[in-house]
Amino acid sequence: MTRAGAANPIVCLNGEFLPLDQARVPVMDRGFLFGDGVYEVIPAYDRQPFRLAGHLRRLDRSLAGIRLANPHDDGKWAELVRAVIESAPWDDVGVLLQVTRGSGPREHAFPAQVMPTVFLMPLALQPPEQVAVARGVAAVTAQDNRWLRCDLKTISLLGNVLLRQLSVDAGCAETILLRDGWLTEGTASNVLIVRDGVLLTPPETPLLLPGITHEVVLELARAHGMAHATRPIHEDELRAADEIWITSSTKEVLAVTCLDGHPVGTGRPGPIFQRMLRVYREYKRAVMRAGRA
Ligand code: PMP
Repeated sequence: MTRAGAANPIVCLNGEFLPLDQARVPVMDRGFLFGDGVYEVIPAYDRQPFRLAGHLRRLDRSLAGIRLANPHDDGKWAELVRAVIESAPWDDVGVLLQVTRGSGPREHAFPAQVMPTVFLMPLALQPPEQVAVARGVAAVTAQDNRWLRCDLKTISLLGNVLLRQLSVDAGCAETILLRDGWLTEGTASNVLIVRDGVLLTPPETPLLLPGITHEVVLELARAHGMAHATRPIHEDELRAADEIWITSSTKEVLAVTCLDGHPVGTGRPGPIFQRMLRVYREYKRAVMRAGRA
């Protein structure tokens, strides 16, 4: 497949590869009408997908959660993802993958015959800016007012969009969410804190997305003997944390050094963050080397 320009990359719509500006979805698609669908963003570095199996597992889980049959097995998904990466105009790519419940009459009930819409497109993957990694980023907090199935990666993102905009309006990088005084996650990231040398993060519940990057970070903490625990985190603990981190496939691991205008810990990325950043980067390099071998 030929590689296309950044302004008009090759995308895949229902199995057909075509330039983005030629891809069309009917207005009766339930993704458009109801936000009835799920998605993934799979990072690829130097054209190697990163933790593809984990993303496909989560996709399968999200599809099951919205009662939509998975249209492909993992082998077929891997083939489609690799084809999109190969034809992308960038070496580092985030593959956006969306599955909706297809077109039908505008009725809430599922259509009798479901022909899902399957769409994949490459997004430029910008590594976090050097200054953000070195100095950390600022975040604000907000009440988590999203629905109660935030463990499903659905395209109905209005709650996340409105909450994210609060941090944009405040000139900050992320909105950290608290539900009734308990930490859930960021609008597009998971959150971990460090208190007294221990890395803490909330358990997996229906109220937050099981992040792939978060999973990598916990694996690395385990592998490198870094003290860690998974348990509910109260707002008071968040505000008193020595370090706060956010993780996502596009941000990787970033330190939050300012929360609601107050410095977190010393106001600089902390020592445990620095250590995790080193081991995360080593791990990423090792995965990439193994992929090329
Ligand atoms: N929570 C939410 C709400 C997200 O949108 C994301 C980004 N997909 C994450 C957490 C982090 O997940 P991942 O590490 O798999 O990108």
